[in-house]
Amino acid sequence: MVIGVLALQGAFARHIEACTQLGAKAREVRVPSDLADVDALILPGGESTTMSKLLESQGLFAPITERLAGGMAAFGTCAGMILLAGSVLDGRPDQRSFDAIDLTVRRNGYGRQVDSFETDLVVTDIAGGSFHAVFIRAPRVEAVGAGVDVLARVGDDPVVCRSGRVLVAAFHPELTDDLRLHEHFLSLTGV
Ligand code: GLN
Repeated sequence: MVIGVLALQGAFARHIEACTQLGAKAREVRVPSDLADVDALILPGGESTTMSKLLESQGLFAPITERLAGGMAAFGTCAGMILLAGSVLDGRPDQRSFDAIDLTVRRNGYGRQVDSFETDLVVTDIAGGSFHAVFIRAPRVEAVGAGVDVLARVGDDPVVCRSGRVLVAAFHPELTDDLRLHEHFLSLTGV
């Protein structure tokens, strides 16, 4: 099994390290041909507006949409969650998303005062106690569709969600040494 990590911009390197530490092969995805031998895809944190533009200019938007429609597993963190969502609020007018999970997310939805914060979460389906989560200008989930499981919340806000083989987190699990969310994603890939 090979995990692709979208490497156009943002925090992709740590995701590759996390997969490698878990014994999975991981490779950077920068151009459409990189997708050929990839079984699952991680979309990292960074800046979703920039990633959206680069996805189009690199010709990656259509082939990734096609792979997602074909059931490829995907894990989006922070900006990656925005890219996988069905509906994006406060995005740029030309910003696109893959509509791979039925969520409405607001970019930078935690506001300027608290646009970065850390907290400990309990994540359903993940054993071993709470998970330390680092939020950086994180998206806020404002609506969750039927068929989406909420695995963790901060207050009332969903911050880890799953729908089929698509997993998203509003924070940056790759910035801590806790590999349990990546491990959970690998178990979803079914490869
Ligand atoms: N605010 C960023 C965006 O809109 C996401 C921040 C992040 O990925 N840390 O894409």
